[in-house]
Amino acid sequence: MTYLGMPTAPAGVGQLRGAEPFPAAAETALANGQLRRNLANATGTIRAKRAAVVSEVPDWQELRAAAAAIKDDVLANLDGYLTQLEARVIERGGVVHWARDASEANRIVTELVAATGSREVVKVKSMATQEIGLNQALEEAGIQAFETDLAELIVQLGDDRPSHILVPAIHRNRTEIRDIFLAEMAGVQPGLTDDPAALAEAARTYLRQKFLSARVAISGANFAIADTGTLMVVESEGNGRMCLTLPQTLITVMGIEKLLPGFADLEVFLQLLPRSSTGERMNPYTSMWTGVHPGDGPSEFHLVLLDNGRTATLADERGRAALRCIRCSACLNVCPVYERTGGHAYGSVYPGPIGAVLSPQLTGVADNPSLPFASTLCGACYDVCPVAIDIPSMLVHLRGRVNEDKAAGHRLPTPEAAGMAAASWAMRGRRRWTWLLRAARLGRWARLDRLSKSRTARRLLPPPLSSWTRSRDLPEPPAQTFRDWWAEQ
Ligand code: SF4
Repeated sequence: MTYLGMPTAPAGVGQLRGAEPFPAAAETALANGQLRRNLANATGTIRAKRAAVVSEVPDWQELRAAAAAIKDDVLANLDGYLTQLEARVIERGGVVHWARDASEANRIVTELVAATGSREVVKVKSMATQEIGLNQALEEAGIQAFETDLAELIVQLGDDRPSHILVPAIHRNRTEIRDIFLAEMAGVQPGLTDDPAALAEAARTYLRQKFLSARVAISGANFAIADTGTLMVVESEGNGRMCLTLPQTLITVMGIEKLLPGFADLEVFLQLLPRSSTGERMNPYTSMWTGVHPGDGPSEFHLVLLDNGRTATLADERGRAALRCIRCSACLNVCPVYERTGGHAYGSVYPGPIGAVLSPQLTGVADNPSLPFASTLCGACYDVCPVAIDIPSMLVHLRGRVNEDKAAGHRLPTPEAAGMAAASWAMRGRRRWTWLLRAARLGRWARLDRLSKSRTARRLLPPPLSSWTRSRDLPEPPAQTFRDWWAEQ
């Protein structure tokens, strides 16, 4: 899905960023005013649409609770549901492959495509294949992958990276998209304008040839039904339907957590997902397939079940709820941090609040230690999440794990750990705490802001506490503490 209605801007805005730690990447992104305007415009539009259609559903909170319960049941009994799915898919003529990690999944898919003799594949938008870097793996094997979702196509032609789960080219405006099409799209009309309808028509003409000639398609899956072996993709453009029906061979790469126990569970999720993701009551295209059928759709179907850190995530009792995620991206659209930095700053396939909790768990927190801190803990993500993932509590839990890892590498406590231990000691004793609050008032009297160059400049603390005030204002202690006020009143 893409938004082509964004205001125009100079070409080159929203350039690809490398995977620096979040604080450094965010600082650069924040300096890009056009990026922030593009993001505010797009996320604001989707937020308003979502809010309008969610308010129409009187039992929205009950649906959220039901979805959370269904997903928790799946996670608690994942082994049973997975073997049930495998059996049903095989019964209906499909082939099931198990991939422990990204390299195993890439090897399986590359070999399957090579066995068909095809050097080209068409792709339905899929987070799982992005997660494993499938396009690069195929390219290294001499196989060209064509993204067919419009926003993914823009990203691919622009040699860029997606910056949003649902709207991968959210950081691009329509002038940039026109320029990318003119430079990279074979057969495009030289007089192409940045009118959204003209851009969509150019993409349609370009993709039509790919749909009609491709012999292999690769997709992800939004859901898989364990008791029937049915796979499902929901989308807005019809490109998915073309990929899932026209080629002879279909390969689906799916994270092992995408299961639902039975067909009836879709009643819950098909109400929650479109409203939370695109702000629509229904998805324009909902495609389901069960194995293969002679004379109808692909004659060969392969399902690659991907672990890639999911069973390790499952082992963490407090972190495993992240596997409930249905990738609707509602949490990105309400996040004040995401809206200002965009997705590239997260340096991860999964940006925004869900990326901040999922990516460190899939890779191990040691490989992604800055992401759990990429949040204000305002709680907006939890409020909108259709499967009720308590992202703020999970962020605090993961911050704890990062700090434990940090402490494990030091014989002496880090300055942060020492500060927290001192605060904990002070807060545990009523007299100590009262005395400290009075001392803070003395600090106010001593005008800490005189430490800075002028009274209007930010108040800075001396090292090592300066690392905290470098990016935050030091609040001025109140003239009267609550305890004094209470005693007085
Ligand atoms: S965490 Fe919740 S709101 Fe965010 S993408 Fe996943 S399901 Fe959607």
